[in-house]
Amino acid sequence: MPDRLPEKLQEKLKTRLRYYEDLGIAEFFRDRVTPAQYISPLNEIGHQTAPAPPFSDVSAPMVDAPTESTAALFAEPFMPAHRLTDVPKIGEGTLLTVREDIGDCIRCKLHKGRTKIVFGDGHPQAKLLFIGEGPGRDEDLQGLPFVGRAGKLLTQMIEAMGLRRGDVYICNVVKCRPPDNRAPEKDEVAACSPFLFRQIDLVAPKVIVCLGSIAAQTILETTRGISQFRGQWLEFRGRKLMATYHPAYLLRNPAAKSEVWKDLQKVMAELGLEVKRPKPAQA
Ligand code: URA
Repeated sequence: MPDRLPEKLQEKLKTRLRYYEDLGIAEFFRDRVTPAQYISPLNEIGHQTAPAPPFSDVSAPMVDAPTESTAALFAEPFMPAHRLTDVPKIGEGTLLTVREDIGDCIRCKLHKGRTKIVFGDGHPQAKLLFIGEGPGRDEDLQGLPFVGRAGKLLTQMIEAMGLRRGDVYICNVVKCRPPDNRAPEKDEVAACSPFLFRQIDLVAPKVIVCLGSIAAQTILETTRGISQFRGQWLEFRGRKLMATYHPAYLLRNPAAKSEVWKDLQKVMAELGLEVKRPKPAQA
């Protein structure tokens, strides 16, 4: 086995590690993979075996015990692209450090058209966290989530639950506005969602409400349509999760508001909020 990895590969691996570092997860490489894990019994008795490809199973045999730095370069990524929600919980940091890690982000093409990054808003220890899809025009201009027409409806929904907007936390799957309000694409979701997962871990809400299919599909890692699981209690990392229709959908289909209200009433019951019965009709 050559002493050093080909330079191109080193660069690629370093870039990937820097990306994870940007996400604030550099520690995991050190904790999870030690040089000792790379020494197979075969190596100890001197057999020549093929090197494990980068990011492969750590139990795969290698010829030489690598140095600490090459061990880090070979580390199995803890977050393969196809399992975004495998990001381990990060007990440290604050929402501010997550925002700082996002920085003046250029990780995906959405940065090209944005005015402001829309990070999130609300109570940092809210019991209830709403996740939308991505900023629209008003959000992009103000740097705040759900402040346009759909946002006004969301605020009304929150108030109908007997809460104020400041009692809950509101964020989106992607933090930059997709052009013409199109749905965020796979690579954009992949680049941005690790920050969303950190926000969820830090706020640590009792209940998560996914607004619309993009939020629900991202969190639940499914391609199933939202109508198949809307209104059911689901789970995300031990937290209760309810998916419901997006307020923008309700603006186009007001008849669906009653379905959403049923979902929100389940959330209220879970949070111990009083579910008001409709007043009996006057005789
Ligand atoms: N729609 C979303 O999904 N998020 C916003 O912040 C605004 C509209």
